[in-house]
Amino acid sequence: MFTIKGRCNCDAVNFEFKISKEKQVVYMCHCSICRRASGTNGVAVMITDKSEFRWLIGEEKIKTWHKSAHDWACSFCVECGSSLPGENDPERMYVPVGLIDNADLEGVRVAHHLWVDSKAPWDEITDDGEQHRQGIG
Ligand SMILES: [Zn+2]
Ligand SMILES: [Zn+2]
Repeated sequence: MFTIKGRCNCDAVNFEFKISKEKQVVYMCHCSICRRASGTNGVAVMITDKSEFRWLIGEEKIKTWHKSAHDWACSFCVECGSSLPGENDPERMYVPVGLIDNADLEGVRVAHHLWVDSKAPWDEITDDGEQHRQGIG
């Protein structure tokens, strides 16, 4: 298991999680909700077990917004607005990979593209990650 640390732009929120090398892959979601949340082509996250994740500092700075009528939420730092990790399902957390230093991302690649059917017209996928027309469980 590797320990990976992440933090927001203002450094108020810090976290770490343990993850095996095999699970260190990026899921890139291109859906319209993730596009609005990020302001760009979507979100890129790693998925980790909730039991392996912990907040180090700043948990009180986290605000979570739930999109009504969708099983969707996003969390961000109330000080700087950086996207933050959140609950993927009862057992797993998603971690936006942009919060992680490059040194902790050696060899990490995009393994899955989600909601490719609804991606932005200017968004061109050029890596060999598996493309899924919609989401995956
Ligand atoms: Zn912050
Ligand atoms: Zn999405």
